[in-house]
Amino acid sequence: MANPANVFYKWGGGMNPDFPQIRRAYDEFLVTEDGRELVDAAAGAAVVNLGHSVPGVESVAETQLSDVSYLSLSHFSHEATEELATLLASLTPGDLNAAFFVNSGSEANEMAFKLARAYHRETGNPHKSTIIGRWQSYHGATLGALSATGNTSRRSEYEPLLHGWPHVPPAYPYRWKYEGTEKEQAIAAARELETTIKQEGPETVAAFVAEPISGASIPAASPHPAYFEEIRRICDEYDVLFIADEVMTGFGRTGEMFAMDRFDVVPDMITLGKGMSGGYTPISATMVRDDIAARFENGTGKSFSHGHTFGGNPLSAAIAAHVVDQYTDSVLETGRKRGAQLAAELDELHNQPIVGDVRHAGAMIGIEFVADRETKAPFDPDLNVNKRVYEHALERGVYTYPGSGSVDGVEGDHLMLTPPLTISEETVKTVATAVLEAINEVTETVTPHDVR
Ligand code: PMP
Repeated sequence: MANPANVFYKWGGGMNPDFPQIRRAYDEFLVTEDGRELVDAAAGAAVVNLGHSVPGVESVAETQLSDVSYLSLSHFSHEATEELATLLASLTPGDLNAAFFVNSGSEANEMAFKLARAYHRETGNPHKSTIIGRWQSYHGATLGALSATGNTSRRSEYEPLLHGWPHVPPAYPYRWKYEGTEKEQAIAAARELETTIKQEGPETVAAFVAEPISGASIPAASPHPAYFEEIRRICDEYDVLFIADEVMTGFGRTGEMFAMDRFDVVPDMITLGKGMSGGYTPISATMVRDDIAARFENGTGKSFSHGHTFGGNPLSAAIAAHVVDQYTDSVLETGRKRGAQLAAELDELHNQPIVGDVRHAGAMIGIEFVADRETKAPFDPDLNVNKRVYEHALERGVYTYPGSGSVDGVEGDHLMLTPPLTISEETVKTVATAVLEAINEVTETVTPHDVR
C-alpha cells in the first residue's frame, strides 16, 4: 500500500496513482472523480468534525475576502481575530483566556513549548527548559513537536531528535502492568512523571505535554480521572506547566467540547487545531492561562519573540469563528450518540480473535489488533494488519484512519474511526458493516503463529 503520509505533488501530475482522486465532498461523503461515493469515517484526519457541508461558511469567507483577507498581526488588529479569541476563551476551561494563533497543530505545540521556557525565564528559573512528553503520542511533525512525540515510527527516520526531551509511559490502561484498582493504576502511571522530573532535576523541567485522550498512536486510550488529578498535583509541586494537546480531541471529538472537560483538571495551556476550522482553512491556537500571558503583554517590557506570518489572519479567523459557533450542545450530543451507536454496532469485535481491545470516547473509536488475546502479543508488523483492514474497508467504500503506536518500543496495530459528529444513523451502519467485513477478511489470512 502507498504510504499516505508522503506525497509530493509535482507539475504535470505525479500524485500517488493508488490514491482515489476526489472531485468533491458533502456531509460525511467524498465523491471520487469517477462518481463513486466514499464514507469519510475518519473526518479527514479527524478534522471535518461537522462534515463537509457546514452551512454559512461560503458567505462568511466571501465577505471576509472582500473586506480584508490578510494582515500582519504584529502591527495591526482585526475584529475577526479578536472575536475568535473571545469565543475560544469562553469555551476553554478555567482562566485559559489568552489565544495565540498559528496555522497547524504542530505550530500550536511549538508555541506552547517555547512559551513554557520563556515563562520560566521570566519567573527567575532560566534553567527550566526540558519538555517531557509520553511514549505512543503524537504532537506534530516539526522538530520540536516531533521531539516531544513518542510514536517511534514517526520519530525513527529523523533521529537524533532534540536532545534532552524525555518521555514517560502513556495512559494506556489496556497494556498497563501496574497493580491495584483502576484508580491506583492511574495514579501509579501518573507518578512515572514525578520519577522522571526527579531524575531530570525539577530545576530543569519546564513542561509536560499529553493528549488527554490518545489519538492516532493509541486511539481512544483514556485514563481514570485520577490520572490527570495526579498529573496536576505533580506539575504544581514541581512548578512544571501542564500542556494538554487537544489538537485532535478538541471540538466535540471525544464527547465534550474539550477532552479535558471530562477530567476535573485545568491545564496551563491547551493546544487546538483540526476541528477548529473544520477543515475549511488552516488555523490553530494555543490557549494560555491569563497570568502566564500577562507576563508578556504590551508594556511589561518582557519579550516573547515568536510568531508565524499567516497566524490568525482575518480570513482564517472569520471562518474558524463561524465554524466554532456551530459546535452547539445539540451537535455535541449527536456526536456522543453516533459514537455510542458505532461502538455498539462494532460490539461483536469483542469475540473477534484478532481484536484485543475496542475503545470508545465520544465519536473516537480505537480498535487494537493482537495476535494473541491472552498475552496481548502484537502481530508481526510486516503483516500490516491495520493497513490491510484499512484497504479492505476502502474497497467497501469506507475511509478509516490506520493509526499506529508503539508497543514496548515496537509498532502496534490500530485502526481509528473518527467520523463527523453529524454522521447519520444510516451511515454509521454502513461504516460498521464495512469495518466488520474488512476485519473478517483479514482474520482469515492470519494465523495464531503470526506473532512478532
Ligand atoms: N497533536 C495531535 C494530538 C495531533 O493529532 C496532530 C495531528 N495528527 C498534531 C498535534 C499535529 O497537527 P498538524 O498536523 O496540524 O501539525
